[in-house]
Amino acid sequence: MINGERIWIRLKELSEIGKTDDGGVTRYSYTDLEAAANEQVRTYMEEAGLTTGYDSVGNLYGIKKGTKEDTLLIGSHVDSVPNGGNFDGPLGVLAGIEVLESLQEQGKELTHTVKVMAFKDEEGSRFGLGMIGSRAVAGILTAEQLQKTDADGVSIYEAMKQQGYDPNAFGEAKLENIKAYLELHIEQGKILESANIAAGIVSGIAGPCLVTYETNR
Ligand SMILES: [Zn+2]
Repeated sequence: MINGERIWIRLKELSEIGKTDDGGVTRYSYTDLEAAANEQVRTYMEEAGLTTGYDSVGNLYGIKKGTKEDTLLIGSHVDSVPNGGNFDGPLGVLAGIEVLESLQEQGKELTHTVKVMAFKDEEGSRFGLGMIGSRAVAGILTAEQLQKTDADGVSIYEAMKQQGYDPNAFGEAKLENIKAYLELHIEQGKILESANIAAGIVSGIAGPCLVTYETNR
């Protein structure tokens, strides 16, 4: 079993960072607010006994080594849309940490290595690109994409530098040995809620791509 109360407390703590008057959160990528949310999550990772760090584009990670290098990746994001919900993103990151913390408390050893990640800029709210961190992890982020700018004309390249990352080193964020990826996400419709079902496993997922993001702006 996991500790549901612990996740709940952490979700509430995280929702204080970038809190809006409506009770939601606004945390754009490569801002001090997103960095603060990441640092808060990092303290949870350390409480869970994970080895933590940031990769070259600023993805936060926590690792629990198994006897194999082959890795299960669990993750989501802590950036948000304007006045976004408190669960969209954080739940997926905190759930990964909770799984590892519970296993540790139960004295369980891992066969596979597990890495929990908070990906940088999933939402695309600031630069109109989105999935910057996961693109880098997948090895498909390009130097050209880093030239996209926010409403103030600041490019992703510049924003990365402002936050202390080296935008020229984005290629180093690519991950090998990932055997599976898992993400718990809040339901964004009301199908499960209306049917009073606690959780569902998706058989397909929306695939936002650059074209749709660019026509939306
Ligand atoms: Zn999300």
